[in-house]
Amino acid sequence: MFFEGFEEKLSKCVHCGMCLSVCPTYRIFGFETDSPRGRITLIQALNDGRIKLNEEFVKHIDRCLDCRACQTACPSGVEYGLIVEEAKTYIYLKNPPNILIRTLKNIVMRFVIPKRWVLRTLTFLLYIYQKSRLNRIVRFVLPSGLKKLEKMLPPLPSPREYRYFVKDKVYKAKGQKRGRVYFFAGCVQDSFFPYVNRATIEVLTHNGYEVVVPSGQTCCGAVHMHGGDPEYAKVVAKKNMEAFREDIPIIVNAAGCGAFLKEYNRLFGEEETREWRRRIKDVNEFLVENGFVKPEGVVRLKITYQDPCHLAHAQGIRKQPREILKTIPGLDFTEMKHPDYCCGSAGIYNIVHHDISTKILNEKLKDIESTGADHVVTANTGCQIQLTYGTGRRVFHIMELLAEAYKNGKR
Ligand code: SF4
Ligand code: SF4
Repeated sequence: MFFEGFEEKLSKCVHCGMCLSVCPTYRIFGFETDSPRGRITLIQALNDGRIKLNEEFVKHIDRCLDCRACQTACPSGVEYGLIVEEAKTYIYLKNPPNILIRTLKNIVMRFVIPKRWVLRTLTFLLYIYQKSRLNRIVRFVLPSGLKKLEKMLPPLPSPREYRYFVKDKVYKAKGQKRGRVYFFAGCVQDSFFPYVNRATIEVLTHNGYEVVVPSGQTCCGAVHMHGGDPEYAKVVAKKNMEAFREDIPIIVNAAGCGAFLKEYNRLFGEEETREWRRRIKDVNEFLVENGFVKPEGVVRLKITYQDPCHLAHAQGIRKQPREILKTIPGLDFTEMKHPDYCCGSAGIYNIVHHDISTKILNEKLKDIESTGADHVVTANTGCQIQLTYGTGRRVFHIMELLAEAYKNGKR
């Protein structure tokens, strides 16, 4: 038995199979056990004690990307994301990896990811490594598995990009002030894509908002929760709740972080987090909800849009990014056939299941190619890394294009 009420959540599945075709692992393997319906049946069997935790169970649950496409497709309202994450945590706790992996994982999860200066320092070292062209030599000597991973690293920012972000900074509203908001900077997002955060702040200030970036904030905790460490997820969540204590909206530009910040009820309960969750807003959601300045400058690019799974499926935000993109003059925007199919990134899935992830990515690349677009636009850190690796081209965040259009309008 996982937790009280879990049985009821599982029993919502009527086994209709409407979720099968949207599931990337079902499309790849074609096995019922690699489909959402099959996984629910497996979890039900374990929950009822009909099967034991065994290798086969772990394999099929582990292969799930938690993309939640099945959740959108399901007519019965099965909370698949919650179910599979509980199952993954259960596996991790009952069947922990060996001490070496556990120690390494704990170091990364507790002493690297939540510490901004550690992540930025590591990013800086990797930046030097890329700039010195040492990567060409290293690639030559690396074993093939590591070579593949090394190639996934996107071009990293110069440390100059971090100068824009200083402790507890308040960015002034431009023109008439409309309000005051917090900005959630993220962990990998802050280190790998500071220019995306900068663009987001520029868009918000251009729209009349004073933007506060508190230094006490840290990683959202999604990586800990999904990695089987709910206790540490609580530690970072508490730090965030303390850092963002003023009752103003908290704007997020990374879909994965936004989805988890909106799910802090899973850590502390519904009532205790109601107000907190009300204040979390994806930047696209916030701008469309409150109205935004229509850009006048031209951005001439042929683009297509990739729905991040944690924006479209987890937060139900699909219209707003498109509404914003369609206001930018000069953009030639063509939709993919399946813009909300996962790109295969899924946290660290593209590292731990590199071969499956590559198959999913290849499916996505064919879809992108058929649009004739030169660039993909998205709204999530992981998608930006994965699609940069896949397309070999610059992948943009929506806010970068909107900020650029505002700038071009002034010229
Ligand atoms: S998860 Fe939903 S869509 Fe999939 S089989 Fe169950 S009820 Fe049908
Ligand atoms: S979350 Fe994604 S990968 Fe997992 S079962 Fe659902 S559709 Fe398939």
